[in-house]
Amino acid sequence: MSFKFINRYPDWLPPEAFFRQKPMPMKSPVPLLINTQLAQAFGIDPEWLASGSGTAMSVGHPLPPGADPMALAYAGHQFGTPVPQLGDGRALLLGQLPDQQGVLHDFQLKGSGPTPFSRMGDGRAALGPVLRELLVSEAMHALGIPTSRVLITAKTGEAVLRQTGPEPGAILTRVARSHLRFGTFEYFINRHDLDGLKAAADAAIAWHYPELAEYEAPARYRVLLERVIEHTITLVTEWLRVGFIHGVMNTDNMMLSGETLDYGPCAFMDHFSAQRVFSSVDRGGRYAFNRQPYVAHWNLARLAECLLPLMEEDALESVIEIINAVPDQFQAGHDQMMRRKLGLLTEQPTDTALGEALLAAMEEAQADYTNTFSAIGRNEPPAWMADWWLKYEQRLGLEPDQPRKRQSLMAAANPVVIPRNHLVERALHAAENGDLSPAENLLAVIQSPYQDPGRNAQEFLRPPQPDEIIPATFCGT
Ligand code: AMP
Ligand code: MG
Repeated sequence: MSFKFINRYPDWLPPEAFFRQKPMPMKSPVPLLINTQLAQAFGIDPEWLASGSGTAMSVGHPLPPGADPMALAYAGHQFGTPVPQLGDGRALLLGQLPDQQGVLHDFQLKGSGPTPFSRMGDGRAALGPVLRELLVSEAMHALGIPTSRVLITAKTGEAVLRQTGPEPGAILTRVARSHLRFGTFEYFINRHDLDGLKAAADAAIAWHYPELAEYEAPARYRVLLERVIEHTITLVTEWLRVGFIHGVMNTDNMMLSGETLDYGPCAFMDHFSAQRVFSSVDRGGRYAFNRQPYVAHWNLARLAECLLPLMEEDALESVIEIINAVPDQFQAGHDQMMRRKLGLLTEQPTDTALGEALLAAMEEAQADYTNTFSAIGRNEPPAWMADWWLKYEQRLGLEPDQPRKRQSLMAAANPVVIPRNHLVERALHAAENGDLSPAENLLAVIQSPYQDPGRNAQEFLRPPQPDEIIPATFCGT
């Protein structure tokens, strides 16, 4: 294999933004799941990746050519509390490679050993959470939602100690557009480092919003904020479209690129519950399903505070206006998303209420979120929605007579397959016991989420039986 990493971070960010660190030694990593599609997107031979030397090099042993491994520093608000310094405590950025379109992506190890930012942690990762990140992020990508992805997962052969006892250790290689977080900006603000702050903003523009170069300097940073707001609203609305609950929307897990990052105690919802929480540590429900837009708004306000010193002296008022406009933008985005799910081609003032009535009835009936929309798409209303269906049919009366267009709108908005939590957990358990086939099968099916997987794979569509429901997820750190 011939590829060569570069590392753009030392060129763009000041030295206090990263700490150079070698990955911990590892005997002979054994490949678990490999992301063939992602490998191909970077021109990496999947067979090489699965070979002993390919696996070892892709998890940093030896370091691939050009890699300049480093732990990145950042800060963040965790569950609303400011933490002046966090940083990569169990991850190391190797550098960047271009994909086949020439777009640079960060490659980062997770579970690669302690760094100066590890605090009380061991710097390691366990097999379960590592495979979970690959499965769920790949589902997210296949659903068409911006996300980091996982190239390869491997067993380290070493046990890691977690709450419930020793677990098999593992490592993954994550691929993301960048690792510039809202928390990166909070880090510089906390240090009163305006040069570092400007460097991070310039990096965000160059890497993600190069079209902003045409704006004059102070105004450019206000437009940067507006772009990040747009991307964040789109991202979170898309999560709601597919029933995803991120679980840890701390500002250090929110990206300037608008990608989903940090798959910890996240989950896709089965039966609809607006206030659903999976994370075992989110006791107050701060990051519940229906709170995600509010939290995103709050997080965007934190980013806006950070960017303010880079803007015009009198920018405060306009920034307040920009931030205050976020809830209405979310509502408009949500309405638009719900129209797609319901196959509505036109806009009517009653659409918000129609969507809300459906969700309320769905919650009352404890109906499955994914399967309910599939049923609506097939024109097969479940019994519990009889009253709502009358309103829906009335609403359809205001639509142009274009049934095919309506069908294709719905088919593209309503997934048939999501990585259901009980199936993910089952696959992880099997993998812990040495059987990778359930994880491989699940991966294969979630890679085409808008297609019925066929007669032999209907188990992937079935909601969990009461005794199969996984009530909580753990981030496993
Ligand atoms: P996360 O919940 O993954 O966003 O992690 C929050 C912070 O805790 C980050 O700074 C991580 O690097 C750190 N962290 C999480 N797990 C570990 C671990 N096992 N060892 C060291 N640091 C960790
Ligand atoms: Mg994180």
